[in-house]
Amino acid sequence: MKTTEKNFVITVDGPSGAGKSTISKQIATQLNLIYIDTGAMYRSVAWAAQKQGISLTDTAALDQLMSNIKIRFQAADDKNLVFCNGYDVTTEIRTPQIDQLASAVSGIPLVRDALLPLQRKAAQGYPAIIDGRDAGTVIFPEAELKIYLDADLKARARRRLKDQAASAQINLQSVTQAIADRDAADSSRAQAPLRMADDAILIDSTNLSIEDVCEKILQLFHARFNKHDEEPVHE
Ligand code: C5P
Repeated sequence: MKTTEKNFVITVDGPSGAGKSTISKQIATQLNLIYIDTGAMYRSVAWAAQKQGISLTDTAALDQLMSNIKIRFQAADDKNLVFCNGYDVTTEIRTPQIDQLASAVSGIPLVRDALLPLQRKAAQGYPAIIDGRDAGTVIFPEAELKIYLDADLKARARRRLKDQAASAQINLQSVTQAIADRDAADSSRAQAPLRMADDAILIDSTNLSIEDVCEKILQLFHARFNKHDEEPVHE
């Protein structure tokens, strides 16, 4: 490793559709970091529960599911492939149905308790960027740089619609409602609710491009670590 003495962690939290994953992926590429998409882990649990016909109220079956679940990420060109129990679920976990199921799954304490060590382990030994809802508050409270990425509900819904329009029968109103519902559920759950860490830096991306947001985060990173743009973070 060239630029830091120890492996560091950048966390990116915020509500649905704020651009966390797009931006985290770009920062990961630019700084040569491991990228961990914790939302994809909840989506994978939802996918596995659905595939195995497990009801979310069946605690024993969910417990069993969580004790055997295998989730892994694989970077491939500009894609972040997600594998769950050996299946490539990258595309299947991005449907409106899994959006809802993942949100429901994420409110179940035994699921959160089981994913927490896996999330920490995924970043072990590498400089990493982690996106989610509780990355800076619960998963990595000691992270060196914490970003809270927000945007107006309307702006987030428009972006989500643009991403999903080709594959689903949805409109701006239904997407806005779905995002507002997920935000409300994420912010009000008892365990690890969505909230900005006290030491996080707020970036409102409503009127910013992806490039603008990346630039801001890179500036914060370089200011914090006092490093040079052209140096890779690890080799
Ligand atoms: O970020 P993404 O939309 O893929 O996340 C899917 C769901 O997983 C969210 O709606 C949220 O409820 C949940 N989640 C969470 N904690 C995280 C990441 C995601 O509760 N760290």
